Amino acid sequence: MPALSERTQGFTDSVIRRMTRICMECDAVNLSQGFPDFDPPREILERLAEVTREDFHQYSITWGAQNFREALAEKQSRFMGREINPNTDIVVTCGSTEAMMAAMMSVVNPGDKVIVFSPFYENYGADAILSGAQPIYVPLHPPGFIFNADELEAAFRQNPKALILCNPSNPCGKVFTREELMFIASLAEKYDTYVITDEVYEHIVFEPHKHIYFASLPGMWERTVSCSSLSKTYSITGWRLGYIIAPPDIIETAKKVHDFLTVGAAAPLQEAAVTGLRFGDGYYADLLKKYTAKRDLFLKGLDELNIAHTVPQGAYYVLLDISEFGFESDLEFCEILARDVGVGAVPGSSFFREPVNNLIRLHFAKKDETLYDALNRLENMRKRIPYRK
Ligand code: GLN
Repeated sequence: MPALSERTQGFTDSVIRRMTRICMECDAVNLSQGFPDFDPPREILERLAEVTREDFHQYSITWGAQNFREALAEKQSRFMGREINPNTDIVVTCGSTEAMMAAMMSVVNPGDKVIVFSPFYENYGADAILSGAQPIYVPLHPPGFIFNADELEAAFRQNPKALILCNPSNPCGKVFTREELMFIASLAEKYDTYVITDEVYEHIVFEPHKHIYFASLPGMWERTVSCSSLSKTYSITGWRLGYIIAPPDIIETAKKVHDFLTVGAAAPLQEAAVTGLRFGDGYYADLLKKYTAKRDLFLKGLDELNIAHTVPQGAYYVLLDISEFGFESDLEFCEILARDVGVGAVPGSSFFREPVNNLIRLHFAKKDETLYDALNRLENMRKRIPYRK
């Protein structure tokens, strides 16, 4: 048979999602793929039950049901601090995974360069390959995951079409400061590039850090393609509801890409999620309180086990340092961790451009009892995993 497409040869399946399958096989506590094991808000589920008996079983408008876009526009106008027009500034997608892909396909021609900070969320590698973009990686230097201004400007000098900004950042938990964002904005303007954002953790930003929407910075609305989703904010990762917010000319193009990729997000789920989009500010304050408590619980547990780790400023991931075990392959370490310790993690090498093999990513979007269970199992990590030195 003839070879399959060359564009699919450059990447593997997602290691994040592969780890979830491994966890299921060996009954490990799955702290790899980031999704909650607690219920979404009751009001959303009650509305979902009603919706099944109403008339929402056929396609909605391809770029999003009117009711959903209106509720989303109202909510995002409030948080982004600018008027979002539900009819011209939004495309509703199947998760922010599709939003990011549609954004890349809308902005980039094959051969164009795109700046990606490393570490990065693993999808961006495949997004770049599928859209024909060539990534220019700019390191975020640990421990603070701070970019070097000269390194960033050197990347901009290579004539990129866009920069991808994941803020708050998965996997390192960085929340970009206003100063950093203003510097990126000044380069985007100077070198005339787009900025494609992934802001799915916009509501999980720990005090004293603040989320600043890139599109809200002076002069940035015109060149920003903001991608996000309802997955993390309302604990509905399986509903696959995401969106792009951008100026009308970008949205017109993104609508076309989206229409032929997926036609549309699930109509009944859009209708049920409107209930969440209409929640008042108290909901987001409570969500943050809940995740702050989970972060504190989990990091304290890691400290008690003397496991070195990052302290996330946002999102719900923590990177653990496994240098002491002396493994060449962090993937092999994660497989052993799942099988012999019973905890699922993602190898750090899935996120870094640099040859990093001493970090693994765990997430804490889980019930407290699940986190305690994972910590209890991690207590055995040094006993059960043979040192390779
Ligand atoms: N964002 C989640 C993670 O990093 C997973 C998202 C997904 O698998 N689509 O684990």
